[in-house]
Amino acid sequence: MSDLRVRFAPSPTGFLHIGGARTALFNYLLAKKEQGTFVLRIEDTDVERSTQESVDAILQAMDWLGLSYDEGPFYQSERYDLYKSKVSDLLNKGLAYRCYCSADKLNAKREAAMKAGGKPRYDGTCRERTDQPESPFVIRFKTPLDGNTAFVDRIKGTISVENDELDDLIIQRTDGNPTYNFVVVIDDAEMGINLVIRGDDHVNNTVRQIPMYKALGYEVPEFAHVPMILGSDKKRLSKRHGATSVMAYREMGFLPEAMVNYLVRLGWSCGDEEIFSMDDLIEKFSLESVGRSAGVFNPDKLLWLNEHYIKTGDPQRLAGLVAELLEGQGVDIENGPDMAAVVKTLQERAKTLVEMAEGARFYFEAPETYDEAAAAKFLNEEKRAVLELLIKHLGALMNFTLEDVESAFKSLMEESGLKLGKIGPTVRVALTGGTVSPSIYEVVSVLGQDVVLARLKKALASLG
Ligand code: GLU
Repeated sequence: MSDLRVRFAPSPTGFLHIGGARTALFNYLLAKKEQGTFVLRIEDTDVERSTQESVDAILQAMDWLGLSYDEGPFYQSERYDLYKSKVSDLLNKGLAYRCYCSADKLNAKREAAMKAGGKPRYDGTCRERTDQPESPFVIRFKTPLDGNTAFVDRIKGTISVENDELDDLIIQRTDGNPTYNFVVVIDDAEMGINLVIRGDDHVNNTVRQIPMYKALGYEVPEFAHVPMILGSDKKRLSKRHGATSVMAYREMGFLPEAMVNYLVRLGWSCGDEEIFSMDDLIEKFSLESVGRSAGVFNPDKLLWLNEHYIKTGDPQRLAGLVAELLEGQGVDIENGPDMAAVVKTLQERAKTLVEMAEGARFYFEAPETYDEAAAAKFLNEEKRAVLELLIKHLGALMNFTLEDVESAFKSLMEESGLKLGKIGPTVRVALTGGTVSPSIYEVVSVLGQDVVLARLKKALASLG
């Protein structure tokens, strides 16, 4: 065990998207590599936008990706007493104050400041106020007025801002609820987080949070801000670029290992290597190899990785996944061939599990009709003799292994003088209904003798 403590802190206001999943993955990998601790914290202080459905969706997606956490999930909504006590601490120390400025007043000030060419910042009206009228108020943090706030980001290097650039942040709203920038500081500190890895859209928050760590007497953690993910047009990744929900890719038939492999490369690299198992990543991942420029989302590459993992996947495991899909489509798989055998015939041909399930269907459902053009060409009167020969040779087999099937076809070809090119398409249409399928010997062998003979006879009958 090392002392490293990292966390993933999603707001449950929607599904887990690609960017969030990558942040979670980077945290997970570093924790595993350094044998540290990975904490999951659900940031659900935004009562209106947070939902249990989103929490469930996020947990499910992490589970699917294999990102297990060591502590949590902790819910901010259960920690309000702690936050309240910290607000009191700051008020007592004179490091926070009640602000009675109304929204209208603040807007007017903001506009005036912008007109005068200044920053739209709070002007500190209530900072030194000592009375406590009976009207609604927020609580603001007293950001230091002089000096600067700087930190060395593990990815971006030194980042520094003058404190007079920073606003007096609201830490508690009129309704008494604490705000994100405040509670995140308390939680990261109280949970002992010593390295915060998150998206670089939070850099502006970090410089606001650091003075609060100091005011609250906490040690400031290290930070690593990961560059954004962009679409192919170099704009921030959004729905326009395709699905952004991790689980949408599961629906589309992607394997979690393809997703993990893809996500990690959005910002991290290791020479020219492209294929990484989770174990490889745990060994090789480091923040030093995370680039400073934005990652560009490339669905083709994700598909390429998925194809790779389907080709090289364990047939037994893929069989379980394909079975689930087919059952979901109402296909009766109980009375069909062994699913792992089916999968083996399709691993070289399918790019996604959805494609694989599509390609596997005919093994479990006899074709009800034949593709019209294919039948006209390959299931016509001229093919009667071929079908009869097939029934004879395949029907005579005692075993139905790939080798047995192959030798039956060989003797059929010798007896008839026909080439495989003259027989194959007919068999294919008779067995699958169309002209596309895995290798014909494999299909015949996996379907099994009874089914093959039944389908060939049905095709023969269809000749009229
Ligand atoms: N809850 C924040 C979000 O989902 C993340 C906060 C953080 O990582 O500090 O954007």
